[in-house]
Amino acid sequence: MTTNTSEALFAKAKNFIPGGVNSPVRAFRSVGGNPIFIKRAKGAYIFDEDDNQYIELINSWGPMILGHAFEPVEQAVSEAIKNSFSFGAPTRREVEMAELIISMVPSIEKVRMVNSGTEATMAAIRVARGYTGREKIIKFEGCYHGHGDSFLIAAGSGAVTMGVPDSPGVTKGVANDTLTAPYNNLEAVQMLCDANKGQIAALILEPVVGNMGCVLPKEGYLQGLRNICTKEGIVLIFDEVMTGFRLAKGGAQERFGVTPDMTTLGKIIGGGMPVGAYGGKAEIMNCVSPQGPVYQAGTLSGNPIAMAAGLTMLHHLNDHPEVYTQLEATGNQIVGGIRSILDKLNLNYQINHVGSMYSLFFTETPVVDFETAKTSDTAKFGKYFHGMLDKGIYLAPSQYEALFLSTALSQENIAEVLAANEAVLSMI
Ligand SMILES: *Cc1c(COP(=O)(O)O)cnc(C)c1O
Repeated sequence: MTTNTSEALFAKAKNFIPGGVNSPVRAFRSVGGNPIFIKRAKGAYIFDEDDNQYIELINSWGPMILGHAFEPVEQAVSEAIKNSFSFGAPTRREVEMAELIISMVPSIEKVRMVNSGTEATMAAIRVARGYTGREKIIKFEGCYHGHGDSFLIAAGSGAVTMGVPDSPGVTKGVANDTLTAPYNNLEAVQMLCDANKGQIAALILEPVVGNMGCVLPKEGYLQGLRNICTKEGIVLIFDEVMTGFRLAKGGAQERFGVTPDMTTLGKIIGGGMPVGAYGGKAEIMNCVSPQGPVYQAGTLSGNPIAMAAGLTMLHHLNDHPEVYTQLEATGNQIVGGIRSILDKLNLNYQINHVGSMYSLFFTETPVVDFETAKTSDTAKFGKYFHGMLDKGIYLAPSQYEALFLSTALSQENIAEVLAANEAVLSMI
């Protein structure tokens, strides 16, 4: 396998783009080596600029839940393009989109479309602040909510990978308004509430974390947070940018049976186009401009091409519950298979798994929060990553990311993924 074209492109890119990439984790810094530059993808396969073929286990960090270039979405986009690309005015599809989201995610009574997950979370906390008249928020160590200033405190994803959990450029004022607690620890949250009585507007979390690797909420944890928020008058925000429409039709909130006040969405909701959304109780969402005083806007929000892609994607997921059955089965097969391989090789690495999301952590410590995630041997992960890449399996290039399965994976693909795992894990 040669990757000469990717190497040349990366060398050139570094002259023109900071670090050569438009999002940090893509640079392969935490696994070493050169990033591969992608030319195209179809179904379960992604192809680089040197025409190497890989089986996809990232799927654009989630959106490609039905595999790449899913034909109904492709057709909807081609059709929509004929009517121009943007109007900056209301359209029929936005109404259909809002109605469909509300029918799929019952805690959402009203919803606003934006252009990314970052925008969604930024807007959600502004609305929660406007609604409560309070200023502070609680977030969790290792949870990532996009790159808004308030969230770059003890953040996950690329922020962990790059070793800059607290980014320069975020003011002390903003940092002071962001309180952080360890994930899966209710007492820590209660202590923050007691120390900041009547000052906390919102508590935001990934109900299943994907951004410090996959970390599941302990039994009763989400309900415990729900109870604290209700008692303290805090707006509970589930950031379901990753988990929404993935862990169930109605996201993690459906799967775990806990109802937030607000939800942020992204990734799958755009079918691969740049889309995000935030929504929640009508009483809270009615604070948003022009109905209420909290300002939030977007020239390209509800973009007709993006709505065509997202709407087709969501309709498909809504109409085909077997998608979720298949994703569960695929997840169980792959994770079950890796567990057997680890057993056979006498390795005690941890795997966290729910539905079509999982992470293999190179540590023997059960991973329940950011502290335990950080016990992982990242050098070993780097070797694993490159071993898998050489065998044609495209994983997330960081220990602190989850993998996302798609319905495009065939039985043959699953067997190839497991064979590669066995070969690589017995080598490193
Ligand atoms: C990806 C992600 C975001 C940010 O979304 P962007 O579209 O990258 O801005 C926010 N929250 C979570 C949980 C995410 O996984």
